[in-house]
Amino acid sequence: MLTGMQIAVIGGDARQLEIIRKLTELDARLSLIGFEQLDHAFTGAVKEKLDEVDFSNIDAIILPVAGTNLEGNVETIFSNEKVILTEEVLSNTPEHCTIYSGISNPFLNGLIKQSKRTLVQLFSRDDVAIYNSIPTVEGTIMMAIQHTDYTIHGSNITILGLGRCGMSTARAFHALGAKVKVGARKSEHLARITEMGVTPFHLSDIVKEMTGTDILINTIPHPIVTAEVIAKLPAHTLVIDIASKPGGTDFRYAEKRGIKALLAPSLPGIVAPKTAGIILADVLAQLLQDDLKNRKGKVK
Ligand code: NAP
Repeated sequence: MLTGMQIAVIGGDARQLEIIRKLTELDARLSLIGFEQLDHAFTGAVKEKLDEVDFSNIDAIILPVAGTNLEGNVETIFSNEKVILTEEVLSNTPEHCTIYSGISNPFLNGLIKQSKRTLVQLFSRDDVAIYNSIPTVEGTIMMAIQHTDYTIHGSNITILGLGRCGMSTARAFHALGAKVKVGARKSEHLARITEMGVTPFHLSDIVKEMTGTDILINTIPHPIVTAEVIAKLPAHTLVIDIASKPGGTDFRYAEKRGIKALLAPSLPGIVAPKTAGIILADVLAQLLQDDLKNRKGKVK
């Protein structure tokens, strides 16, 4: 249970509703910031503005998956007002206050450092990232269907990266009957790709591997789909870049060449916010309960 815990949930999308539901069920008291337009009411949760919250009582802050943008803006689909996270807000919290987000960026890392608080990035946990890869892949399949006039079955699909998303993506497209090849740079990844029954290639050969690609799926958060790579793609290729913003694709050059290239962030939040929210809610509930237990243990 989270009885006695005061948590600020700042911004987010429909995934946050599952988190709010779970934490209020566990008896936490919640301040919801950036939720003015949310119709639903939760017992134990109060909608507030950022400047109305007494952060000196807040034990934990839950940010959306993306954390903040590079200016500190916290995205929220439930409000038209800007919500900006500042060092002042974090410094007003008690020292034990932990901040939770999906991923981070230099701005958020800077705030955390200045305020000497702890940031937990949920997506750096393997369990969360693997569970989350399931709705991510379903979203990628949706985009492939929406933006092509041919079947996935029989198509040449090239996937870049064999991380948590790359592996799930390769498995799913292979199971749908696509001809899948996967580019990676580690020899153990090339071995795993072979074991999975799909075709491996080393990323150092990326340019020559583009010939014949119908759909190119990038999961590598690094500029990898360069102009040189795009120049080798057939004109009909669809590029789906799921890597975190700004993606790994030279979108300017793709547009110039007339190649359809789409940056596809937050797919779980779009195609399966309930499942994606439950994944986050379950792990957050566990982490917050552990935190509360540790602090109670220290007080005794
Ligand atoms: P991951 O497990 O860390 O995998 C990343 C992959 O990129 C690994 O194969 C890694 O290979 C490779 N890589 C990283 N830097 C590289 C570089 N400089 N050159 C070549 N390869 C490199 O991450 P993930 O969980 O699969 O997530 C992948 C990306 O998708 C992340 O940016 C994540 O934030 C994003 N994501 C997006 C959505 C969405 O809805 N769009 C959903 C989930 C995740 P090595 O092991 O060799 O480093």
